[in-house]
Amino acid sequence: KGIDPLLNDIQPPTGGKLWGPGEREHANATLLMLVRNSELKDALGSIGDLERTWNQKFKYPWTFINDEPFSEEFKAATTAAVAGEARYEIIPKEHWEVPAWINKDLMDASADYLTDQKVQYSKMVSYHQMCRWNSGMFYKHPALQKIKWYWRVEPKVNFYCDIDYDVFWYMEDFNKTYGFTINLYDSPESITSLWPTTLEFLAEHPDYMHKNNALKWLTDAKNRPEHNQKAGGYSTCHFWSNFEIADMDFWRSKEYEEYFEHLDRAGGFFYERWGDAPVHSIGLGLFADRDKIHWFKDIGYRHAPYFNCPSSPKCKGCEAGRFTFGADVEQEDCRVNWFEYVGLD
Ligand code: GDP
Ligand code: MN
Repeated sequence: KGIDPLLNDIQPPTGGKLWGPGEREHANATLLMLVRNSELKDALGSIGDLERTWNQKFKYPWTFINDEPFSEEFKAATTAAVAGEARYEIIPKEHWEVPAWINKDLMDASADYLTDQKVQYSKMVSYHQMCRWNSGMFYKHPALQKIKWYWRVEPKVNFYCDIDYDVFWYMEDFNKTYGFTINLYDSPESITSLWPTTLEFLAEHPDYMHKNNALKWLTDAKNRPEHNQKAGGYSTCHFWSNFEIADMDFWRSKEYEEYFEHLDRAGGFFYERWGDAPVHSIGLGLFADRDKIHWFKDIGYRHAPYFNCPSSPKCKGCEAGRFTFGADVEQEDCRVNWFEYVGLD
């Protein structure tokens, strides 16, 4: 397997200082979890893992975000579970609600069609809202305006490896924009018009593309040609965005912001089921410097059903090199494509 040798060497990045616990003040950063009150137990699982492997040492603040008020039970239990500060924020209504220009009848008819196409969560309007919010809204939250870095965490994920350096200062000092752990193919049925809509935008703004972009990675037709075909020319390979360590200023850039606006007006967050993962990934592949995108291979991670699990004595509880259980889902892994087209940093 192409990726395994890479997972055998998880020496932290070299070429500069990696700051350990207490060696430097906090970077301008927060851990960030969008979560529902009903997910408290699963949230505590993720928090426990990340605190144990990293944040107990570094004590970065957590920001919990919800589209409705957090319950007292949720706040008490999560505050007790973290070493640093816990903040609780509500999403402004206008960031979450289905935009006025969306035709509700068309949205419902599309949901029926997508259900036939076996697109997961087609009929769950809140899931579409969540994907849109993660694509183009979260970094506009008033409480995050002065913050640059975030580590996105979801309920029910696992972290397996002790990390001894400050990942946010790593990002800043080593001039990175975006950090990921897992690359996956998407269901092309959920994004049939995303790439064509992207090409419309690029035709209007050819100058927005970064000169060191990852277009070849985005449009790869060699590794899974039927996906590329069904998605109108996009390979569907994306950074799995349930894990992100990234710079919100990238999402706040003119290029990405206008791109999101264009997508939002096209309606595909509701007429299709565009996910924030392919939207972020296309945005990064076009408008970011590809050398500023970093694979955190040293962070052992799972969001079911996939793992990023390096081979190291620092990791406990996951099987080195394991991507998933079951050969049928094994083919969803596209981590190796990134290195094929972009190379290792
Ligand atoms: P999946 O990973 O694609 O199956 O989707 P999840 O159910 O894990 O949702 C992704 C993230 O959004 C998780 O952090 C959820 O807690 C959060 N989320 C999804 N829907 C809602 C919602 O309606 N309200 C809130 N507050 N959070 C949501
Ligand atoms: Mn999830």
